[in-house]
Amino acid sequence: MIRRNTKIIATISNLNCSQEFIKGLFWAGMNVVRLNTAHMTHDDALQVIKNIRQVAIKIGILLDTKGPEIRTCDNDKPLFVKYGDIIKIKGAPEERSKGDVICVSYEQFVKDVPMGSSILIDDGYIALAVMEKTDEYLICYVENDGVINARKSINIPSVHVKLPALSEKDKGFIRFAADHRLDFIAHSFVRNKNDVIAVQKILDEKKSTIKIIAKIENSEGAQNLDEILDHAYGVMIARGDLAVEIPTEQIPLIQKKIVKTCIEKRRPVIVATQMLHSMIESPRPTRAEVSDVANACLDRVDALMLSGETANGKYPEVAVRTMAKIAKEVEDKKSSYVNVPYTIDNTITAYLAKAAVKASLRLETKGIVADSFSGRSIRALAAYRGDSPIYAQVYNRQVMRQLSLSFGVFADYVQMDVNSIKPLKKAVSRLVEEKCFKDDDLIIVLAGSFGMRHGASYIEISTAQNFKKRQT
Ligand code: PEP
Repeated sequence: MIRRNTKIIATISNLNCSQEFIKGLFWAGMNVVRLNTAHMTHDDALQVIKNIRQVAIKIGILLDTKGPEIRTCDNDKPLFVKYGDIIKIKGAPEERSKGDVICVSYEQFVKDVPMGSSILIDDGYIALAVMEKTDEYLICYVENDGVINARKSINIPSVHVKLPALSEKDKGFIRFAADHRLDFIAHSFVRNKNDVIAVQKILDEKKSTIKIIAKIENSEGAQNLDEILDHAYGVMIARGDLAVEIPTEQIPLIQKKIVKTCIEKRRPVIVATQMLHSMIESPRPTRAEVSDVANACLDRVDALMLSGETANGKYPEVAVRTMAKIAKEVEDKKSSYVNVPYTIDNTITAYLAKAAVKASLRLETKGIVADSFSGRSIRALAAYRGDSPIYAQVYNRQVMRQLSLSFGVFADYVQMDVNSIKPLKKAVSRLVEEKCFKDDDLIIVLAGSFGMRHGASYIEISTAQNFKKRQT
């Protein structure tokens, strides 16, 4: 397996989730599995989770919710439309679409959507303009030929709809994730901090330490990024829906801005959707896809995500391997250091983390070894995107898996010890045995002298051999 700083998330469906398949993706370079619950039952998800856990305890598991989305209802038959047709839209979750009336899953649809709005159906495949409103219907002008099928997505760019943050299905899946100690909830269509708080409330009721990833997929979410990051652990730039809600040409710069903000705030950031889309059908990516992946790596994202490529594509393992090779090429050819400002509250950790990464670059050390209770000091190190791998030693298996999403971090679970230096000395010996570095290589250790929960208080620079011989 190629050691790589940029992490890879692969979406896996219950329809193709054998242990053999998961093992293939893991050895190709997958770090985290995404379960897209929009298409799953609890039993479906459990089947995938059990198989992942049989393959490797280090694979992180991210459960993606449906979020506050609107879809077309079931119908008697699809509606074929032509440019210039007039059709009606009705907010009627319990009804079926019939004739030229399309029912949608949100009751207050007519009330929330103003005249003049643009309505996009099926990822923007059909565009409608709202011409008129009655109490019951939106009267819409069809802007292109096509067919409107059942259960297709509906986007209304720049319109705030007052849908609740969580559907009953989402609530059930969040409780399910807590019960099965998954690692991340990626919540869809996060619009503001309240959407994140609603998920956190359920996790708190379950006393769960699952981390929330806010999926940014509309303009409201992008605009409210700062307040969202005050409550979420990290962010996914969900370009599929984002590019329907916001003009596509704006996506590259929005992506760059979100990545920069997340790195500065020490929050994991994921770039998702269509990264190697053509590999669903082809064993080779397009040149543009290779550039897209490489560009995200140049921006120093924590993780890249594959969707259909691994969930139902013909070349899932090749797609992961291709992504890993592109990331590795960028990392090998370009130093990745990012000079982020000190913005985290714990200034001692922030200061030591920056000093450690800068020293590692100057002295060309072979690794930074650090222990952590919550993973916070590890993320502080990761923010600087240094060239030395960060060998995190953590006392909790879930924290280990959660760090599988952070740039340049290779986490191991270690037993706690009241004498805090002992696990680190053991870790350094183990890392030498595993050939992560050699006895006479220079390494940096970031640790604390005042006990487990008191954070980092020093950095030490020495050969691995000397650190192993340390007396206390
Ligand atoms: C996206 O829209 O880019 C995305 C990742 O979300 P989903 O796959 O759930 O549509």
